[in-house]
Amino acid sequence: MGLARTIRRQKQKAAKRQAKKEMTAVVHALASMPDTCSVCAAPFDKKDPVAMQDWQVEVSETEDTKIMCLDCQVMEVENEI
Ligand SMILES: [Zn+2]
Repeated sequence: MGLARTIRRQKQKAAKRQAKKEMTAVVHALASMPDTCSVCAAPFDKKDPVAMQDWQVEVSETEDTKIMCLDCQVMEVENEI
């Protein structure tokens, strides 16, 4: 009984640690988010809720965060066809 309980606690601990790690990643991504589109350098307003919705944000653990404006997203889709 005692052992099962210990394992469960360890799992909870691990889950907590993972959540914290992800949280840190998100905060880091937001802080390091560029101010301009990674493709066409169009200015990105972080405080504009519409821009936040329309722009595509690509978060990578190894590379810098990339953001793409609506125009470039449309262009990318057209290029793929
Ligand atoms: Zn763009």
